[in-house]
Amino acid sequence: MTNEIKISAASAKKFNQQVLSWYHQQGRKHLPWQQNKTPYRVWISEIMLQQTQVATVIPYYQRFMESFPTIVELANADEDNVLHHWTGLGYYARARNLHKAAKIIAQQYQGEFPEDIEQVIALPGIGRSTAGAILSLSLHKPHPILDGNVKRVLARCYLVEGHNAQAKFEKTLWPIANTLTPVKDVAPYNQAMMDLGAMICTRSKPSCEKCPLHNNCLAFKLSEQANFPQKKPKKVVPEKSTTMLIAKIDNQLLMIKRPPSGIWGGLYSFIEVDKQTDTCDTLNQYGLTEISRTALTPFRHTFSHFHLDITPILINCKQNQDNNISEPSNIFWYELNHSNSIGLAASSCKILEEINELPF
Ligand code: SF4
Repeated sequence: MTNEIKISAASAKKFNQQVLSWYHQQGRKHLPWQQNKTPYRVWISEIMLQQTQVATVIPYYQRFMESFPTIVELANADEDNVLHHWTGLGYYARARNLHKAAKIIAQQYQGEFPEDIEQVIALPGIGRSTAGAILSLSLHKPHPILDGNVKRVLARCYLVEGHNAQAKFEKTLWPIANTLTPVKDVAPYNQAMMDLGAMICTRSKPSCEKCPLHNNCLAFKLSEQANFPQKKPKKVVPEKSTTMLIAKIDNQLLMIKRPPSGIWGGLYSFIEVDKQTDTCDTLNQYGLTEISRTALTPFRHTFSHFHLDITPILINCKQNQDNNISEPSNIFWYELNHSNSIGLAASSCKILEEINELPF
């Protein structure tokens, strides 16, 4: 329980032999991004897998790679189309950063993923652990990784105090990861550490009896698994509310592209107003007049930093007769029962699900 944990070369060797031997028997080797490994293919998978489970990622990954098989094709794609491929995965800054980074790679590195770790870390949306994973898994460069799964395994094995939100926790873990990561076999070792965290050393019920490290794991020895890593102290999450107006003409719904930063940045959602707003005035700004309205089911969307209570109202509209308002460039008429290649905010997807069930 100290900030500086010393690991002898012999103990590191034993640790990675145990991990590698487990990996050869039990590790995951057949995931889509583990075939024809290139830095690009591994990069996309690593970004999708942040905050998202493997089973959810697989179909998204396959569609994404079919549409954007190379870095240059991703760089040249329209941002709406990239966000469209991310719709439903959440944390859209990941997709916007991927797109930005692909443009940088196309311009500065002639479309070839850089092999120097500092150049990789300088790209938008790539931290040290992700850079290490990309370069080690695809090019066998001997870089350690420290994602949430690896942090959990190491914190338990060496009783490292703290939690994921604390810089000192990570600061203590990096030298441990560095010491343990072998130069030879770095790719299977890093993959094995991620797999061990995801499959065996899970957050709430680690399967210690199946773990190759249990003879050396201090948390197991002391029955302290539940206390390492420590839980982040719970914060009170603020609550906000909004009303969404879904303006409908025939088979089309009015959507607005959100500003590039902030919640659902760059995605399409419906007109948002607060309770006091005069909806007639708002619709008038878009050259529309209300004919009738239907209250849809209110719901709560939870972000990492607040809850948003959403009241959606479907409004049948007509175009104003004397309409001399030019349509703003950030609007899109979404066609029901068609494929629309735009990125949708999570709230839009939920509202569309309900509208698609309505008898028109
Ligand atoms: S013995 Fe248990 S707590 Fe320790 S690393 Fe293995 S699964 Fe995790």
